[in-house]
Amino acid sequence: MARLSRRSGVEEKGQRAVRSSDVYLPKEGMEVSYCKRCGLVYRQKRWIMDPAETERVKADPSSGKIVCPACQRMRDEVPGGFFTLMGDYLRLHEVEILELIKNTESKSRKKNPLGRIMEIRQDGGVLTILTTEDKLAQKLGRDVYKAHSGQLNYRWNHTENYVRVDWKRD
Ligand SMILES: [Zn+2]
Repeated sequence: MARLSRRSGVEEKGQRAVRSSDVYLPKEGMEVSYCKRCGLVYRQKRWIMDPAETERVKADPSSGKIVCPACQRMRDEVPGGFFTLMGDYLRLHEVEILELIKNTESKSRKKNPLGRIMEIRQDGGVLTILTTEDKLAQKLGRDVYKAHSGQLNYRWNHTENYVRVDWKRD
């Protein structure tokens, strides 16, 4: 179990690093691996998004094949964040708000390739964005709030390890 906790605190510096509390980690002994679903490379405890690097690692028969934490969460349908948007204002500005959300995701993915939008649900006047990581849901909430004001709330579920971010503007 030391494997899960020994880097806690240190990894905060590296934005690509997985938090120590994350349950999805590759098995020990696979120092260089790649995700067989999305191609992310795992090297020296870092996730790297670089297609050229993926090709090099794939070509090396000693590389490990894994499913990265983001793809595992997508496969298992276990979101790390729920970002819910509602209110009359949303109906009038939905297109630009969705655009902003997608831009924020792609920018943040360059720094942390494990933070992704899993699904966008539209149900009545409510929009729900499911993310692989809690931090991305918070970032999306902050960016929508910065650009469109309204009301923003966070609620953490520590036992199940996810965050709910609610945004509303009437
Ligand atoms: Zn992956």
